[in-house]
Amino acid sequence: MQIASLFQKNRPVFSLEIFPPKRTGPIDTIYKTLDSLKDLEPDFISVTYGAGGNAADTSTADIAGNILHRYGILPLAHLTCVNYSRHEVEQILERLKEKNIKNILALRGDINPDIPPKKEFSHASDLVKFIREKGDFYISGACYPEGHVDAKSLDEDIEHLKAKVDAGVSHLISQLFFDNAYFYNFLEKARKNGINVPIQAGIMPVINKAQIERMVTLCGASLPSKFTKMMQRFEHSPEAIREAGIAYAVDQIVDLVAHGVDGIHLYTMNNPYVARRISDSIKGILYA
Ligand code: FAD
Repeated sequence: MQIASLFQKNRPVFSLEIFPPKRTGPIDTIYKTLDSLKDLEPDFISVTYGAGGNAADTSTADIAGNILHRYGILPLAHLTCVNYSRHEVEQILERLKEKNIKNILALRGDINPDIPPKKEFSHASDLVKFIREKGDFYISGACYPEGHVDAKSLDEDIEHLKAKVDAGVSHLISQLFFDNAYFYNFLEKARKNGINVPIQAGIMPVINKAQIERMVTLCGASLPSKFTKMMQRFEHSPEAIREAGIAYAVDQIVDLVAHGVDGIHLYTMNNPYVARRISDSIKGILYA
């Protein structure tokens, strides 16, 4: 099933994101996480792809395959391209085909200063075109409500996004954000620029201060004063910051749903407890 077709339902699509465990750790931990997440009945679950430049890393395909075959949930396999040759990407696509995985989130990947890019794919749109040539896949892409960190402006980033969608992307998932105003502004500009595919809002609940600082450094999301005040007030209590983070995420989602958002993509950070708390709080809102 194509992810884009889920958006024909008369309610916002609700999906979850997980990441494979570290290569040094046991793979089974992810299945304990999925055992808990499956009860949340997400429309799909996406699995991130390591940007390490190791085409032999098969864990994303393996986990996505199990999401489909063991849990009966639609998987979305992330795939980055900047560190791969065409031949390596072809091998990864073969592996996804073998597992009957049809939906791919096509990404450039972050450029790691220690790993020179292979130059066969400069942008995600190159990967989109390549995957389309290989046939048999539905392609999703990433978008950035505050503009991608490499882009000179949001307008320039949206021009590139339009080209990526025109290359064959049928669904977008946004980078995390903590101020919904950025998402609404982005959505308005995207629609004005003729980007008409469904756009899901990516929401990341705060679990602890270190996690959020790391994420914000990586993606440059703005922190509204309401958010920073919350962090300052509760940073010394792991339980309080988690509770406040859950409440903040739920508040963001209620506002997004009230504004008619296409869907919510929850960055679970492999934390089923937090995902469940949020899912329980918003179920009645999503299905209203
Ligand atoms: P692109 O769409 O290629 O955009 C990257 C930059 O290039 C932008 O500034 C854009 O404006 C610019 N650009 C695009 N096309 C052109 C062009 N033709 N000419 C000039 N400039 C251009 N990373 C991982 O390593 N693994 C993951 O699993 C992963 N999952 C993600 C999931 C989501 C929902 C999101 C939002 C991000 C994810 N990332 C992941 C991070 C992502 O790889 C980085 O943000 C990366 O820096 C950009 O990837 P992209 O696919 O958006 O790139």
